Order: sequence, then structure tokens, then C-alpha cells
Amino acid sequence: MKPRIRIGNGWDSHEFKRGIPLKIGGVTLPHPKGLGGHSDGDVLLHAITDALLGAIAAPDIGSLFSPSDARWRGADSAVFLAEALKRVNSAGYDVGNLDSTVILAAPKIGPHTPAIRTRVAKLLRIPEDCVGIKAKTPEGMGTDNAAIAHATVVLKLKPSKKPRSKVQPAKRKT
Ligand SMILES: [Zn+2]
Repeated sequence: MKPRIRIGNGWDSHEFKRGIPLKIGGVTLPHPKGLGGHSDGDVLLHAITDALLGAIAAPDIGSLFSPSDARWRGADSAVFLAEALKRVNSAGYDVGNLDSTVILAAPKIGPHTPAIRTRVAKLLRIPEDCVGIKAKTPEGMGTDNAAIAHATVVLKLKPSKKPRSKVQPAKRKT
């Protein structure tokens, strides 16, 4: 029997590069530097994608969307998350809730948290009150030129469809 609940955890980091858009949680934030990477560098969506894949013990984001594959150059990371969610659903699970932490020195994420939460909830198809987005500054870690994201998801087994009760066909009156 499948477990009723599964948990997944994901982690990612990307380095800041000048002159590219900064995308976090599917939202473009105003900042002179963005996160470099093969795709759009969305560190939060990558961590969430890995958490979803990890929860069903599927191969991780790098195995599914190889950085050496030209198809994913500059790709919208929402595509990766959608594929992970599809796999979660076909494994028989729905997302229960997500909690996440983004760690970066600048820009301040706080003012953008509501927009990020709205976007991530929509991508995961869960209510906003099931999406936690927290932001921290990397004090004393010497990682001012990078952004890090942690994500934890809980999956719930989809309710099984009740087998139809066998109804005896009515006997025809003779
Ligand atoms: Zn990444």
C-alpha cells in the first residue's frame, strides 16, 4: 500500500551575474543583477522542483533537465516545476503544503513575498495559505554574490475512487 503522506526536500544555489533579469519564485524582481544558470536561474523554483521530485523518489532536476541540453537554455523554470508536479500527480499524490526559505543579501525579498506566494501557489495548484515563503540574509556566510533556496513539501495520497458497488441486474419479470 502507498504511504498516505510523503515529504520532500530541495536545495539550490545560483551565482549573481550582472545584466540578466532576477527571477525568484516565478516573479521578476527589479535588481541590476540576476541569477546565472543554464535556465532562467530561478533558485526557488528549482528547490521546489527538487522537493517534489524527491518526495516521490524520482531523479532530480539536473537528471531530468540536463544543463547540457540546449532545450533548457534560458528556459522558464515553471516548466520544470510543472513536469515535477505531473509526476507527483501520476504517482497518485497531491501537494499538501510547501515551506521555503530564500537566502540572499540583496535585494530585500520581504516586499515581494506576497507576489511570490501567489505565483508559487498557482504553479503548485494549492491555496496561498499552504505556501510558506521566508527570506533571510546570509550573515557571516560570505555568500553575498549568491542566492540559496531551501524547500520542503508534503504530499498527500489522492483519495481513492470508491469501487462501484456491484448492483445485481434487476430480474426481468416473466
Ligand atoms: Zn538551479
